[in-house]
Amino acid sequence: MTELEIRKAIIENCLKMNATGLNQGTSGNLSARYKDVMIITPSGIAYEALKPGDLATMPINKDYGSWEGPLKPSTEWRFHLDIMIDRPDVGGIVHTHSTYATILSIAGKEIPACHYMIAAFGGPMIRCADYATFGTEELSANALKALKDRTGCILANHGMIATGANIAKAMWLAVELETIAKQYYQSLLIGGPNLLSDAEIANVMERFKGYGLQDKKSANSNAKPKTRAKTPAKTKAAGKTSAAAKPKVAAKRKAPSKARTQTKAGAQTKARTQTKPRTRKQA
Ligand SMILES: [Zn+2]
Repeated sequence: MTELEIRKAIIENCLKMNATGLNQGTSGNLSARYKDVMIITPSGIAYEALKPGDLATMPINKDYGSWEGPLKPSTEWRFHLDIMIDRPDVGGIVHTHSTYATILSIAGKEIPACHYMIAAFGGPMIRCADYATFGTEELSANALKALKDRTGCILANHGMIATGANIAKAMWLAVELETIAKQYYQSLLIGGPNLLSDAEIANVMERFKGYGLQDKKSANSNAKPKTRAKTPAKTKAAGKTSAAAKPKVAAKRKAPSKARTQTKAGAQTKARTQTKPRTRKQA
């Protein structure tokens, strides 16, 4: 894609994000890689008013934090940029405060393997990054940690991030993430989900290779091929579990980075109580 095509694609996806209800107002932000720069939505302007020339650019591997454009980059530029630096496979990033992902983030819940589509995110759970103030280095570090070997994560008391080889794939995953979040949330209301095992998620990830949003001939970005296909079969986890047939698996974790699906019977009573609503003060 040319730079102009990428800029137009970013704006199209911003408008789509609001039209579909995935995002409200200007709280979301999008970025895409073009050669050695990141193109990102500016802060505080209605998407309807955005013109391709209004988007900001930031160099990815030099002059950290510098930018060009008529308007300042999104206040969340830092995690966008840090993801682009850390993950050469990422060519597009979507950040939104979509309702169900944000509800789970407020409860500090990661999304466990409640649906096979979770495999599209690179593993058996979508982690919830620890809370940190928006726009900070700390939030960026927490997000990177939660995104390890994943294409999406939830940000505690904030929202979510979805990444892809280009902006279209990132948006596709953002919609998938919100969908799973909604399904998981609603399953908690009827007693909690039956979870799929790590081995089954690894199996689905194998089947997903080549599946998903297909590129048209030239629709790809400059992102390098994804490497996450390497991660699915963590032999340590695979086979260890047989959760599919067992109901009520613990879903709650305090430390997102260590998150693993628990399938032992001992965890089950805990899971029950954790599905109850509880109050929590915003950090
Ligand atoms: Zn945000």
